Amino acid sequence: MVPTEFPACKAREILKARVRADLKVYAEAVSALQRSLGQDFKKASRNAERARLAFETASKRLADHLQSHGCG
Ligand SMILES: [Zn+2]
Repeated sequence: MVPTEFPACKAREILKARVRADLKVYAEAVSALQRSLGQDFKKASRNAERARLAFETASKRLADHLQSHGCG
């Protein structure tokens, strides 16, 4: 069900799906980081940082789209 005041926007849905996917990857990377306080910490830390940046980039692209397209 799409609320009538917010018409469906395909680009927005794609960007949202990207944010959700990147957030999931980020959450998993943080979870792996919590388990790896031993030898793999450096690697897990880099992974989590990379995942965080990807998530932030996706979030920003969604926010920019909502603002420029006015579909949020
Ligand atoms: Zn849009």
